This record gives sequence, structure tokens and C-alpha cells, in this order.
Amino acid sequence: MAKAKRDVVPGKLEIKGIPLPELEAMFIEVGERKFRAQQVYDALYINRVDDLQSVQVLPLAFREKLAEMFRTESVTLNTVQDSEDGTKKFLFDLEDKRSVESVLIPSEMIEEDGHARRRTLCISTQVGCNLGCIFCATATLKLGRNLSSGEIVDQFLQAQKHSPKPLTNIVFMGMGEPMNNYDAVFQATQIFTDQRTKMIAPRRITLSTAGVIPGIVRMADEKQIIKLAVSLHATTQEVREQLMPIAKKYQLKDLIESIEYYYRKTRKSVTYEYILFNGLNDSLDDVRRLAKLARRMPTKVNVIPFHDIGFTHPEGLAAELQPATPEKFQWFIKKLRDEGVKVFVRSSSGEDIDAACGQLALSREN
Ligand code: SF4
Repeated sequence: MAKAKRDVVPGKLEIKGIPLPELEAMFIEVGERKFRAQQVYDALYINRVDDLQSVQVLPLAFREKLAEMFRTESVTLNTVQDSEDGTKKFLFDLEDKRSVESVLIPSEMIEEDGHARRRTLCISTQVGCNLGCIFCATATLKLGRNLSSGEIVDQFLQAQKHSPKPLTNIVFMGMGEPMNNYDAVFQATQIFTDQRTKMIAPRRITLSTAGVIPGIVRMADEKQIIKLAVSLHATTQEVREQLMPIAKKYQLKDLIESIEYYYRKTRKSVTYEYILFNGLNDSLDDVRRLAKLARRMPTKVNVIPFHDIGFTHPEGLAAELQPATPEKFQWFIKKLRDEGVKVFVRSSSGEDIDAACGQLALSREN
């Protein structure tokens, strides 16, 4: 894995998001002992301290040196919105006055102690996005910049403070295309899945891509395997191109081949994301084509209701997009299941707080 860029924002370096071997090398370079890196790393990710000055095990002079070189906080909480269904949406400020958001989604399944069985954090990987999917609020923000690995890790650490129980899953499905910020995303993943930090098991991390083929191939070849989700949203090249301009560059046929490569290398089942749009991708032919694709290897299909993005003043086809009716939605799921496909319905978690990606950051921009 290549080193992620460390000076995303000018000023002091972020100490979060630096893998242990790199931190050790940095400390040795400034004349410190190698084991100090381990102490700092444990303080950040095992003890989860906000301020390294409070870590008594570190000598005072070293703490002062750390304060001169690094900043501990990579993202600062601006707002938390609580939904009636338990979903929480966080708006985080970045050092350069930009904003990103994360969404904490509790599973509907409740344990005996009254808490949700799973608590999934949907993390952003870029400020805005330049892929221009026509159904997406984030797309209207354009691309501000890539997030650093520290900003990615810190979304998790800050959100954890607002959850009564440990977060159990991560999805890279917030603002941005994770494959277009590959090195930072995988450095953050290295920290999340580290045996020492025990933050999240690799099988509980999912990266969702709009279909960036080189990233899928690279991910399949990684030593640390995380799960892959692909935003499919259409079963033909023609409709996919209309919805997602990236499909012109990475054609459906080649995309499926790259997903098959991922499966052959990892033996991990793949998730297809499928937003259902009225009259566009919800026909019986779509059911059959989707089922045919899904049966090529172990997969599941997440069928997702469309969140309205009318507030972004879309034009052309984007302005005509409508959610499938509830009856059509149920019909589509039943037909897919009849075809033997493993189907899940992604609920409209946090609908009352606009939990679809990009909406909170966008309302702040305007
Ligand atoms: S759906 Fe994802 S990839 Fe497409 S524009 Fe939105 S953030 Fe980017």
C-alpha cells in the first residue's frame, strides 16, 4: 500500500491516521525512542484519549514536543441530529473550514439489553464528489478534496462517543468515492482492523464503490480483505450511463468481470446496491437481468428507496427521478426473491433528519 498524503491541510500534522510503523519511523527521525510510538498509538486507539497532554506515561518534554509537531483532533463535531428511529447524523468541521458528515445507523434487530444488535457508521472519504451520479446530493458539492486517513479515523472515534455501545460495523458509503482516495481509506482501515486496537473486524468493514474498476482489482489483491459493495442501480449499460456518468468509463461488462475477480481472489460475497426509480429500472426485464447478474457468484442485493434530492434543483433526467411506488417496491423485491436472489431492503433510516449522503453538508454550504 502506498503512503497516504500527510499534509492534506497546511499547518501541524495530524497524529491520527498514521499506521504504527510509519509513526515509529517519524519518531526515530526526530530523535525519540521507537517504543514511544506504541505508547502514543495505544493512547489514541485503545484508551481513545482526546488530548495527548493527559497521557502521564509520556514524559512531559516529549508531550511538549508532540504538541509542537502534531494536532490530535482531525475532525471537530459541529452538529448531531437524532432521528426518531435511533439514527444519528454527525456534521464534522475540518481544519480548513470544510465539512463532512457521518451517519450512525442502528440495526432494527434489538438485543435483550434493549440496544441494537449492530451499530454501523457510514463514513465519508472525500469532501464532495466529482463522479456526478444524478440521484446524489453529494454530487452537487463537486469535489472539494480527499480526506486524510486521520479525518477518516477520527469520524469513527468522535461518533463512538455518541453511541451507548461500541460501534460494530463501518461502511465507506458517505460522501465521496472511496476508490478515488484509496491510500487514505486503506491506511485508515489498517488502523481500524489492527489486532492491537481491535476497533472493527475486517469482515465488518464494507467499501461501497460506484464501479471504479482499478480500485476493485487493487482491493482484491490486498492482504487485509474487506467487503465490497457496488452501486449498480441499473441492469443495462444504457440506463447505468444515464444515472452514473462513471459508467461510460467503466462499462458494465468490465465492471462485472472485475467483481468476479474480487470474488475469485477473496471468496467474499459481494453486495449490489440498487436504488429503485419509478419507470426507469423497475421492470420485469430488470428483475430478470439483475437476477442473472446476482447469480453469477454469491451476492446479495440491497434494494434502496430513493431519497428526494429536489432541494438541489436538479435538471434533465435528474429532475424527473421518482421513487418507485410502495406497491412496485414490494413487487420488485418479491420477483427478485422468486428468482432465488438474496434480497435485503435498506430501510429509509433517518429519513426525518435527511440522512441521505451529502444533505447536511450541502444545506450548510447554501
Ligand atoms: S453516489 Fe457516491 S459516487 Fe456517486 S456522486 Fe454521490 S458520493 Fe459520488
